[in-house]
Amino acid sequence: MEVEMEGNRISYHDSVLKVYARIKQDGITNIWDRYEAQGMGGNPDQRCPFCMGGIRCDLCSNGPCRADAAKDKRGVCGITADGMAMRMMLLRNVLGASTYHYHTEQTVKTLRATAKGETPFEIKETGKLRDFTGRLGVDTSSPASEIAIQLCEFVEADFNRKTDEPSLIVEALAPNERNQLWRKLDIFPGGIYGEMMRATSSCLTNIDGYYQSLALKAMRLGIAMAYQSQIVNEYCQDILFGIARPHAMRVDLGVLDPDYVNVLPNGHEPFLGFAMIQLARKREWQAKARGVGAKGLRIIANIETGQEMIQRWEMDNIFYGFTGNWIMQEAILASGCVDLFACDMNCSMPIDPLYAQRYKFKLLPVSDLVAFDGITDRIDYLPEKAEEQAAQLLQMAIDNFKERRASVEPVIELPMKEAVVGFSTESILQALGGSLEPLLSAIKDGTLRGIAGLVSCTTLRDYGQDVHTVDVAKELIKRDILVLSMGCGNGALQVAGLCSPEAKQLAGSGLNKICDSLNIPPVLSYGTCTDTGRLADLLSAISSALGDVPVPDLPVAAVAPEYMEQKATIDAVFALAFGLYTYVNPVPTVTGAPRLVQLLTEDCSGITGGVLNVETDTAKAVDAIASHIEAKRKGLGI
Ligand code: SF4
Ligand code: SF4
Repeated sequence: MEVEMEGNRISYHDSVLKVYARIKQDGITNIWDRYEAQGMGGNPDQRCPFCMGGIRCDLCSNGPCRADAAKDKRGVCGITADGMAMRMMLLRNVLGASTYHYHTEQTVKTLRATAKGETPFEIKETGKLRDFTGRLGVDTSSPASEIAIQLCEFVEADFNRKTDEPSLIVEALAPNERNQLWRKLDIFPGGIYGEMMRATSSCLTNIDGYYQSLALKAMRLGIAMAYQSQIVNEYCQDILFGIARPHAMRVDLGVLDPDYVNVLPNGHEPFLGFAMIQLARKREWQAKARGVGAKGLRIIANIETGQEMIQRWEMDNIFYGFTGNWIMQEAILASGCVDLFACDMNCSMPIDPLYAQRYKFKLLPVSDLVAFDGITDRIDYLPEKAEEQAAQLLQMAIDNFKERRASVEPVIELPMKEAVVGFSTESILQALGGSLEPLLSAIKDGTLRGIAGLVSCTTLRDYGQDVHTVDVAKELIKRDILVLSMGCGNGALQVAGLCSPEAKQLAGSGLNKICDSLNIPPVLSYGTCTDTGRLADLLSAISSALGDVPVPDLPVAAVAPEYMEQKATIDAVFALAFGLYTYVNPVPTVTGAPRLVQLLTEDCSGITGGVLNVETDTAKAVDAIASHIEAKRKGLGI
């Protein structure tokens, strides 16, 4: 069957389709054509069946090997198909965990330097600083800057605990019932650095070839990552830059105006982005931009760095709006409106130098992790130099403007709309009048059937960019399931209009009523994929408010309609360890491993209470999520 990559196979968003036409006209390589070119037999989604099933391995020189469970055909070393698929999954998990944790390290460094007065930032949320530090059992009687330093020391000591020394962060933050279960299963982690080493070493040839043991190691790493990396990271970023509170934000490619100097921080770490906004809001920088013929200087939020920023800071004419998620990156760059693409850790594509050359913008790594073929200039972020580095970046963008404006025809009249962003546990509580009670009673009386935490990426597998995510979210809200969205999937729903109050019209009557009374959209924009840990913390609060209902008994689900990269795989593994029904799409590369599939999709529910569901069809996927939620309601007698 010949499958054409066009229309819905490209993207859900009209803006992207419009710039895609320009990219095609310009004849430049793009993600959609490259995806299609990877296909086999005229089908862009068809790839090597061994790779699709997760049953190939090239870790040692006896390989590459292929396995076949039906014939008990094993790798040269003797590893089974199940072992092969789970070992590769665990390696992906390590990649995800270490990248999350890299960000956390940078945040902790930034917090410490800020507490010492060495950065342009300040401790914005002393209440949260005291509350979070107190939850970890650290004394909070000293002044804020001292507490912040003690917090940094406490978390760093925990990251460095040996694997046989239980993590104090996990112990303090996880629900009691999970704490006990994880100890019983021997998946209660030590410090994340040791856990990453333990997981990675287990994957060496001839060390651990047993799929069950590898799966448990993945969960253990996932638990360490969620509490030590994600929660510590997001809460420290809240302390530094502000807790997310609901506000309107311009979204979609129409936020790019060619007549302004446009600076796009991109990746996951918001530090230099915030430092640039602080400077760009000063008159002198706006004057410099006008001096080269621009209408002004704008910082445009982009992908997940942008998501971290828009959740916390309000828009104005300088911090202007948010473009979208990573698959539209080439559309953003080909718009002809970009002057500087500043790339921190994550989400900048290896193809970007070609786009920089063609569409005349400055491409610059701002993290020591990031590198591009052919790009030699770089500024590696240092908290103590953040202001100076931000000024250098803004100057580069201003210096770029004239040439870009003179030589690149911009794509104009791209769509723009407004989304409500900035929901956090604190702001949800505030919207509810200070307690979870109104939410819980809506769940109890059935107005709301349950909650879906949609933590997703965006991928071209099976559908175009964001098509499946938007469809799944629409189906969920139609069935009175409140959606909390995170990650690139959150960007998808913001741009698609589902994070706007008007989207309540698409919700079922119960959810519609709640949206009306609380003046909220049916999809609450809850942050980035790094906020998965924050979601777990919210669910812990719900479980305790309901009288310590175990997490697996709650009418909730984790939903990843378009998972893509390695960070997403560790999120899903953590969700299973946390005891959640976890829907993932595309089908992960484990299908050639029947015992592993059985473990993840069936047996796991008897071990942690979590279970994996895979389904490419939207209606069937949401039917399954909804019936899980209904079964849990029944179990609770509501
Ligand atoms: S580790 Fe085993 S399965 Fe992998 S390449 Fe070596 S022999 Fe083959
Ligand atoms: S892990 Fe997924 S959601 Fe997070 S930044 Fe990467 S693509 Fe986006």
